[in-house]
Parts: sequence; C-alpha cells; structure tokens
Amino acid sequence: MTARTGRNRVLMMVLLLLAVVGGVQPQASGKFLVLLTNDDGYDAPGLRALVEAFRSRAEIVVAAPATEQSGKGHSITTSAEPIFLRSHRQPDGALWYAIEAPPATCVRLAVESLLPRRPDLVVSGINRGENLGITVYLSGTVGAAREAAIVGLPAIAVSMRGNRQEDYAAAAAFVAGLVEQLQQKQALRPGLFLNVNVPAGERRGVRVARLSLLATHEDYERRESPRGRVYYWSRWRPLEDDVEGTDVWAFARGYITLTPMTLDVTDVSALEKLRGLETHAETSVVR
Ligand code: MN
Repeated sequence: MTARTGRNRVLMMVLLLLAVVGGVQPQASGKFLVLLTNDDGYDAPGLRALVEAFRSRAEIVVAAPATEQSGKGHSITTSAEPIFLRSHRQPDGALWYAIEAPPATCVRLAVESLLPRRPDLVVSGINRGENLGITVYLSGTVGAAREAAIVGLPAIAVSMRGNRQEDYAAAAAFVAGLVEQLQQKQALRPGLFLNVNVPAGERRGVRVARLSLLATHEDYERRESPRGRVYYWSRWRPLEDDVEGTDVWAFARGYITLTPMTLDVTDVSALEKLRGLETHAETSVVR
C-alpha cells in the first residue's frame, strides 16, 4: 500500500464514520432546512408525499393549514382575527404545525415565529390538481410559495393532476431530485419562485415553460335548493391547450412543467406611456 492510498483509506474511513454518526444523531442545526406547506390541509396526501421524499435529505418542518384552503390565492389572516394552531412533536423532536389560517399566513407565521431558524427553502404542495397559467393568481399552493418569495426565500410550488398515492410519491421524488439539481447549479437563491406542474400518467419529460395567459373557464350554474332558495355553483374547467412554449401547452403534451416566476408585475411599456401624466407640485392641477 502506498502512502497516498493509505491516506485515502484513512480519509474514507473518517468520512464513513462521520456519515454513520451524522445518520444516527438528531438533526443538527445547520442542516438544510425545508419548510413544507400546502393548501389542501395538514393531512393531505400530497404534503405527506413531500415529507417522505425530503425526510432523508433535509431537516423538515411542516406548517400547513389545519383544513383545506384551496383557491384562497394569497389570502391572509389580518390583525382582526386570532391565529390558532396545534403543534405536533415529531419523533426527531421537531415541531410541526397545523394552523387555522390560509397558506400564505402559515408561511409567514412559520418563518417569523415558529421555526428554529430561517428555512433554506419553502416547498408548497403537492396540490391535488394542476395550477397552470392564470391559476397561479388563484391558487393557495402558489400563494404560499409567493409569500415565501416575498419574505426572501427560495420557493417552489408543486401541483399535480390526479389524486393517486403512487403519483404523489413519484411527483415528490421528482421534486426532491429537482431541489438537488438546483442546489448543484446554485440556483436555490432568494428570488427563485418556481411553479412546477406534474401531469397524470406517463410523463414525457421536463419542459421549462412560460405562463399561459389564457383565462380559465369558470361559469356558475344557477340552482334551487329543495326549499326554493336560489344558489349558484361554480363550474370550473381546466385549460386544454395554448400556444407552444406555454405551461399549458407542455402540460397537455405530458411534460412536467417548470415555470420560473417573479414578483414584479409592473407593465413596463405602460410605465413609459403614462409618464405624460406625471405632475410636480409647482405645476400640479390636482386640487
Ligand atoms: Mn389545493
């Protein structure tokens, strides 16, 4: 054995020992911390699938709505109401939270007041049902990720067509692998706000796609209760197709879609056009 291979062997043994010790120790602070949330509720299968996929790779904390909050968009709990919550102690000592609040508030409360330290990443999902195109403005799943982006954390929203346990598990494994790739590319930075959608059945691959701007189909059926009271029932239909390059297009063709988003919704072209409306105090005609 040469001196070099001997040194390498010692180094390997030290690394192995560290790996073994690291594996049996309670999760040390400083480990990659992932905050998991969703809008389908604390007990939803999509959230459980993310827990299983991330458990072995990172320290995880769950802070999710106690009950389903789908379609609540970026709704928040204001200072007019209390925020009740229940904490659940995990076998590793971590506390997870079921919170009586919409997803965006769950994220903000967790980051500001509940977590042992600032998370390295927030993952929201896996939502039951895709969130493509304009739906990102309605979705509580995306609302939670947007709130994370607002507080300066990398955020990923994940949604899936269907509700089968094996599909949740496969989608969660994909997301965990995606996070590893993003880490390697050093893309997990504040401002990363990624919308991921996973189609049902056989997947053809992964596409980076821009957001479709088609309006979603929603109308309301007029009905009457047995006592003659009129009510309306929402009839929402998913978008079927859009032009090539959009998330709707790629999703319809069986691709997992990755849509990087930004918080800046300023219409830059209108910004220039509206300059003529600007006034200054000395010339203002506004009374
Ligand atoms: Mn949902």
